[in-house]
Amino acid sequence: MLVSATEMLNKAVAGKYAVGQFNINNLEWTKAILTTAQENNSPVILGVSEGAGKYMTGFKTVAAMVKAMIEELNITVPVALHLDHGSYDGCYKCIEAGFSSVMFDGSHFPIDENVAKTQELVKVCHEKGISIEAEVGSIGGEEDGVVGAGEIADPQECKKIADLGVDFLAAGIGNIHGKYPENWKGLDFDALAKIKELIGDLPLVLHGGTGIPADMIKTAISLGVAKINVNTECQLYFQEATRKYIEAGKDLEGKGFDPRKLLAPGTEAIKVIVKEKMELFGSINKA
Ligand SMILES: [Zn+2]
Repeated sequence: MLVSATEMLNKAVAGKYAVGQFNINNLEWTKAILTTAQENNSPVILGVSEGAGKYMTGFKTVAAMVKAMIEELNITVPVALHLDHGSYDGCYKCIEAGFSSVMFDGSHFPIDENVAKTQELVKVCHEKGISIEAEVGSIGGEEDGVVGAGEIADPQECKKIADLGVDFLAAGIGNIHGKYPENWKGLDFDALAKIKELIGDLPLVLHGGTGIPADMIKTAISLGVAKINVNTECQLYFQEATRKYIEAGKDLEGKGFDPRKLLAPGTEAIKVIVKEKMELFGSINKA
């Protein structure tokens, strides 16, 4: 069922596990993630970037597809449909389209402007029962053309944004989007602990979940991370399985050109990595 992400993440903080946000790009992605969540009795967050929203022809299409799929597939585990790195306008579009959760990424604004816009959006979202995530300290790497340097969030700024009533908070702790470079220094757990001390039980969000070693993920969860965003890894698994299918010449055999066959190995591969992440995050049987 479609719900806001507030309750599932508060439960995750209390239970010391994390819920995965898996970004969707199309029907296959959505189907793979929803069925994996249901099979494993796990709550799940479907992430939609502004770019993916545009690709799928708009947020209304996305919301309609997700709602219908939850019904047609009898998905009973909690599902949140969440705008990932939303702009100010993007948040309003998703609120109108029927998303159950949004992230307002005001990290590139001066802190005062980030505060003002976040405050306004918190009010609008909460009137409609929609959860809202905010970000402090930009996440490194590239996402939809926005390049961040992987800052470490200032704990006082985190406290300032947390106090606005956001439901969960993304704080940069050296994490980056996409593949991690060879010389990556790892997550800054001292910074995470300082942030946690100031914000208490507010769920923290770790962006750029692809390629962070399992032990670091577990430490991050023990320090209050309750939502972990996974995007690139699903893309890489889909790509590898699709490549294998074509390189093996399967698309040339019989009806192997049928898109339902051509896209099947990639879709199955997404299910494999999503389940692995749910196991690592500890969200299985937590629906
Ligand atoms: Zn992100």
